[in-house]
Amino acid sequence: MKVLKFGGTSVGKPERMHSVAKLISSPDPKIVVLSAVSGTTNALVDISNKLSNKDSKGAEEAIANLFGPYKSFVDELYSTEAGKAKGHAIVKTYHDLIRSYVGKADFGDKETRLFLAQGEIISTNLFQEYLVEQGYSSALLPALDFMKTDADSEPMLDYIETKLNEQLAKFPNKHLYITQGYVCLNSDGEVDNLKRGGSDYTATLIGAALRMEEIQIWTDIDGMHNNDPRIVKRTFPIPEISFDEAAELAYFGAKILHPTCIRPAQVRKVPVRLLNTMQPEQKGTVINNTPSDRDITAIAAKDGITAIKIKSSRMLLAHGFLRKVFEIFENYKTSVDMITTSEVAVSLTIDDAKNLDQIVKELKEFSIVEVDMDQTIICVVGNFGKEKTGIGKRLFDAMETIPVRMISYGGSSSNISILINGGNKNEALNALNEKLFFHAEKV
Ligand code: ASP
Ligand code: MG
Repeated sequence: MKVLKFGGTSVGKPERMHSVAKLISSPDPKIVVLSAVSGTTNALVDISNKLSNKDSKGAEEAIANLFGPYKSFVDELYSTEAGKAKGHAIVKTYHDLIRSYVGKADFGDKETRLFLAQGEIISTNLFQEYLVEQGYSSALLPALDFMKTDADSEPMLDYIETKLNEQLAKFPNKHLYITQGYVCLNSDGEVDNLKRGGSDYTATLIGAALRMEEIQIWTDIDGMHNNDPRIVKRTFPIPEISFDEAAELAYFGAKILHPTCIRPAQVRKVPVRLLNTMQPEQKGTVINNTPSDRDITAIAAKDGITAIKIKSSRMLLAHGFLRKVFEIFENYKTSVDMITTSEVAVSLTIDDAKNLDQIVKELKEFSIVEVDMDQTIICVVGNFGKEKTGIGKRLFDAMETIPVRMISYGGSSSNISILINGGNKNEALNALNEKLFFHAEKV
């Protein structure tokens, strides 16, 4: 069995839903996870904010703006009168539900979470009805019947496995199941969600829970690219990448999959394939546990980094200095990303500079501190085992004309990080791309 997830743009227009139906028409068994129609979740956030602020008039307006366009959506989605009538009835149900909260005394977090779930509930109900109209034999599985998080908001994989199997057993003759992304129950049994963009997470949880053959994430990009296509011209989709490499890339800005989403699939060894709804015949990218024999897989960048250099003459031959430094970061719950040290100084980077002033003040009590804002981490991901030679040379050759502030190599065997001035990012990404992917001399 496979699980296939389609995001907001993939179901954002009636004709896109038609394409999704075609893509899932093969007879092999599958669970299809859908996001809300694009724009819907944002609108629901906005309506919830207005109701929380007792702005009934604004909320009414926003509700009308959200549901207005669903009329033509329904008219274009279905081809029969019976289908259209059912579609309009679905939209009316959720429109009425949401409107019934206007003017209610207290609208809080619980109600907001209930509202946010409605986008996926609407899209899946409309889609399921479309499949019925088109003669597909599919079943709608409510995510609230199997998707659950614990008191720490962590998904309960074993619970999901048990409940999902129970749900599937109710429809022994079906091969096609539709369900909502993003939506879940929390530990209090209330309607909740897996955080914005959480439909991917739903898909990887389902695939992992049932130890499926494959998890497919369908978007409008042809997989993970070797470099940022917005900045670098000659990029290409990576056919195969390991979970570790994908997690490094996701953290460093490749927007395609959140690192937490990859975890369940990695733990239960289910490959994740990234595919493009616009070009379904393309292979996309498969993320799996097979380490590649390639040296370099991809390059990514993370902006808005702050570098802090902490120097102490007393660090020479002293112990306990690093503990003192890191304790300060820990006290301010600020995570440190890159670290480099010399005998008398340590340089490190942080992403969240909210408590920078306080941190610097405390560091200055025992050291000389230098801060550089607007730095960029360039992360080169690949297979840099201990025995590899020559990679450093190629990297430095590419960076020949670009000032390098920090380098971190050896922390993990799949990542080399370089810190540069944010202003040099485009030049660095392009130079590295040419040198590492197109003029790679044999090493
Ligand atoms: N609809 C939710 C959101 O927009 C979840 C998702 O699309 O993945 O955040
Ligand atoms: Mg979305």
